[in-house]
Amino acid sequence: MVRVGRILIVGAGIGGLGAGTVLARLGIEVDLVEVRPDGAVLGIGINQPANSLRALRSIGVLEECLAVGYQFRHTRFHTWRGELIVDIESRLGGDGVPANNALPRPQLHRILTAAAEDAGAKIQYGTTVTHLATRPGRVEAGLSNGATETYDLVLGFDGIGSVTRRAVFGDRFEPVYSGCGAWRVPCPRPSEVTCTQVFQGIASKAGLLPLSREAMYLFAISKEPGNPHHDPGRLHELLRERLAGYTGLVGEICAGLTEHSGVVYSPMSEVMLPPPWYAGRVLILGDAAHAAMPHLTQGAAMALEDAVVLGAMLGEDRPVPETLAAFVQRRYPRVKLVQDVSHGILVAEVSTTAQTMPDFQRRLATELPSRMAVVEGILNQPA
Ligand SMILES: Cc1cc2nc3c(=O)[nH]c(=O)nc-3n(C[C@H](O)[C@H](O)[C@H](O)COP(=O)(O)OP(=O)(O)OC[C@H]3O[C@@H](n4cnc5c(N)ncnc54)[C@H](O)[C@@H]3O)c2cc1C
Repeated sequence: MVRVGRILIVGAGIGGLGAGTVLARLGIEVDLVEVRPDGAVLGIGINQPANSLRALRSIGVLEECLAVGYQFRHTRFHTWRGELIVDIESRLGGDGVPANNALPRPQLHRILTAAAEDAGAKIQYGTTVTHLATRPGRVEAGLSNGATETYDLVLGFDGIGSVTRRAVFGDRFEPVYSGCGAWRVPCPRPSEVTCTQVFQGIASKAGLLPLSREAMYLFAISKEPGNPHHDPGRLHELLRERLAGYTGLVGEICAGLTEHSGVVYSPMSEVMLPPPWYAGRVLILGDAAHAAMPHLTQGAAMALEDAVVLGAMLGEDRPVPETLAAFVQRRYPRVKLVQDVSHGILVAEVSTTAQTMPDFQRRLATELPSRMAVVEGILNQPA
């Protein structure tokens, strides 16, 4: 017996839409509020590793995601001059899912939005929560459309800058800036780019990720001290400066960049909400609870796993407070592993100098394959 009748989800992003689908299918009345004015999302591409694909299968959209995406198993690490350092075969996958499926981010949102609506979740765009008041066994939520509603449970799936987290925990767990930023630019996929290719430079890195038969994106990570605001009209020049000296395909793409290339820049921050992630009947999930560096491409996976695991646990017949406690206990070690490993990779790659580069390359070749095998072995286990 499901013991919640009505749930509010704040944020119709990847996790919120996944949760909306799973919970509405349990027969729960689901309201989703999304601050954006419509369902359109910005963003270029997103990789979904096998554990995310298993969550997407539970949500019922795996086949659609595979149909529009690009599947691959390997990650090839090179020097910034294009010499191969190591080619790592992923341990993820099996059980009917490939190791990785990358796809255009707007497609993932379109697929998840349709699934949530089909399941019966009601999405209100241009709407947010204005206040949350905890009452015994329920929450009173004020919405920006003027309504005040009562819910059995409120889920804060509103991303790294979560207002729900702030409403519950104050400003104690704000995002921490990493000192680095991520750059992305969409490009046509040449036939030789058939898996993730990484190019390690001194204190920076670039990479190529195939997104479909036709498309890929170039990404880069650079040190950005002081969290600067970059002029959107100059992003193409700034990315070219960051990747000066990179040769091969990365160098060619950089040489052709213009202000119309669609370069996107994101400062990178982390959040780790210590357990418990809830107070009363308000639970914080996804990036709002555990935003990590993007290095393992596990952020959406962790949000989708949160959604699927919570749905399964709410479907069990036990008191809601017990379910919330058990949920956080089950999820925390896994998201902490992803955050710690991702953070460690970032620190290592942006700390490289001309002096340490030979040793860094040697360790990539000799140590990274076994370390990745351990992490992927854990992530390939059920969430
Ligand atoms: C550069 C970069 C690259 C990445 N690449 C990958 C990748 O390849 N693979 C991967 O799995 N992950 C990747 N990630 C991480 C991934 O994008 C996130 O982990 C994932 O989107 C988290 O899902 P979420 O639902 O928790 O939050 P989000 O997807 O951020 O959704 C939050 C939603 O809440 C809405 N919202 C915000 N505030 C409010 C409010 N006050 N009221 C109502 N709604 C609100 C937002 O508009 C948004 O729709 C990357 C991240 C970065 C920065």
